Amino acid sequence: MASKKTARKDSATPRTTKKQAQGRIDRRFLPVPTANPLLVRGLFGVGSMVLGGGSFAYFGRRYQELQPHPWAFWMMASGFVVVALAVWLGTSSETAVRVGPAGVAEDRGELRRVPWWAIEKVTYQESSNALVVAGKDLSGDHTTLVIGLAPHKPAVAHILAEAMERIPSKVEVPEDVAKEIGEPDPYAGMKIQDPVRVVGRKCRESGTTITVETDARVCVQCDAVYHREHTPAVCDCGARFAAL
Ligand SMILES: [Zn+2]
Repeated sequence: MASKKTARKDSATPRTTKKQAQGRIDRRFLPVPTANPLLVRGLFGVGSMVLGGGSFAYFGRRYQELQPHPWAFWMMASGFVVVALAVWLGTSSETAVRVGPAGVAEDRGELRRVPWWAIEKVTYQESSNALVVAGKDLSGDHTTLVIGLAPHKPAVAHILAEAMERIPSKVEVPEDVAKEIGEPDPYAGMKIQDPVRVVGRKCRESGTTITVETDARVCVQCDAVYHREHTPAVCDCGARFAAL
């Protein structure tokens, strides 16, 4: 029994948890338009009617060889403004957000990701009612992700819960705000396979670039990568490698 355990420890494959072995799952969250949908539909309806009425008052009367109605232009103009307002309110300019074992990312077709191990602080910004994830991206550039609670509450709940589990010392979110954000919904977001990529990444301890996958040890808590010869007993995030 004991020898079997030792043999597993010495094997060259990266140590992973059962969860990781089953496949790493990223969740992708689309923003929710923040405007009231009834208001948007109401404005669109009223705007269209005024615009249509204005157009008839302007052009339609020509068939009766009458001058356009004096209000026609203003009806068309105000109808157009109301329709434009409805379109603006109804379309969200927020981006999609991804949360998973690799970290937190903004997804605009291209990922702007802050890995868990490179997060410096997770805070709440009251002025914008948003969760702020500050740290560095994979290439070492400072990156700040501001994720609004209104369009992204399900994503924020997942980010906060995972951050509390993986990097609790970096989380500075007031208790009442955390309570309002609530527990993450296990069914929220679209699940995407996100296999671990270690080749080309640098060892956290020695700076050595990983060239062979089997040389890498990946921390399951913060996703930091170490070369197997430079793997510390305890990761910077506090997770013990020996225990994995
Ligand atoms: Zn770690």
